[in-house]
Amino acid sequence: MNPFWNPLVDRLSPYVPGEQPLRSDFIKLNTNENPYPPSPRAVAAMREELGEDGARLRLYPDPDAKAMKTAVAAFFSEFSLSVNQVFVGNGSDEVLAIAFLALLKHDRPILLPDVTYSFYPVYCGLYGIAFTTVPLDAEFQVNIDDYRLKNGGIVLANPNAPTGCLLPVEEIGRLADIHPCSVLLVDEAYVDFAGETTPTAIALVKKHANILVVRTLSKSHALAGLRVGYAVGDEKLIEALDRVKNSFNSFPLDRLAIVAAAAAIGDAAYLEKTRAAVMKSRKALFARLVGMGFDVLPSASNFLFARHPRHDARAILLALRERGILVRHFDAPRTAQYLRISVGTNAQCGALIEALSDILGAAR
Ligand SMILES: *Cc1c(COP(=O)(O)O)cnc(C)c1O
Repeated sequence: MNPFWNPLVDRLSPYVPGEQPLRSDFIKLNTNENPYPPSPRAVAAMREELGEDGARLRLYPDPDAKAMKTAVAAFFSEFSLSVNQVFVGNGSDEVLAIAFLALLKHDRPILLPDVTYSFYPVYCGLYGIAFTTVPLDAEFQVNIDDYRLKNGGIVLANPNAPTGCLLPVEEIGRLADIHPCSVLLVDEAYVDFAGETTPTAIALVKKHANILVVRTLSKSHALAGLRVGYAVGDEKLIEALDRVKNSFNSFPLDRLAIVAAAAAIGDAAYLEKTRAAVMKSRKALFARLVGMGFDVLPSASNFLFARHPRHDARAILLALRERGILVRHFDAPRTAQYLRISVGTNAQCGALIEALSDILGAAR
């Protein structure tokens, strides 16, 4: 161990994000980015904020990102949220990091599904939070009754990652009722792709003071490069997040991020159009993969989780890479034979299918 290091640093096993190649000619289906550009209104808002000479960047941004919180509250007006029920951060990964520290470090272990977003155990390692994994069933579904265990909090991604499977929002409410003294964190990174109407747990926060919903603009709003996420919950939960945030970084969102995020969230029509296009491509890609013999989990997200009974996942990934197509593989016990494939444009999905027929055909 390096003598300069905090001993904790030596014990960390950091999260490894999907590859961001320096070459731009890959078809990137490995990190669930949106294949479409962000709302033109978001781009215009950044241009305006920048102005002729960028002089506004001399000044610190609003530490409370009020413009963005107002846009979030307005977007969910049917649930009559106040801005005090909204927290914002530098990507939802930062929101999650703050929530784990502020709300999930108690005496008892927190509960996580055995297959879920692999950043959650990393936060536990960073903060010394014990966790217990609860196995998904044989179909990779969450069963709420498996979570009848004493706990210091529960974290669910819904739709789950990397499976894409969706738990009905009523089940989230039922779990919040089973454990009224635990925080139930629901990570809705992909929920905008769940269907025509979005089954969000934000509908439950008024009734359940223990539900914290975390969202990102990286996927459905096509702004992964901007780094904006947010959380919605009871004012007391949000106050805890703010206390940690203001003990760490007063300005997680810069000026361009605040105006662009507010504009993107305000452009509901654009979100409708792009998420519908992604869901349509997903349906077509699902059918093509099944046609090629893949087992594909039902997906409520912008990716498919698929395995081929006769071809090794890692071998397929490498063969795709040689053909300029990136997909993601997780080398964990239950998922080692699966590939996670982001839904691209129809052209990108077409190129994937062509490459796969070539690869599977050649290996026969
Ligand atoms: C992509 C993703 C995030 C992180 O999103 P950022 O806002 O880009 O940090 C969080 N949770 C899940 C489940 C994700 O897939």
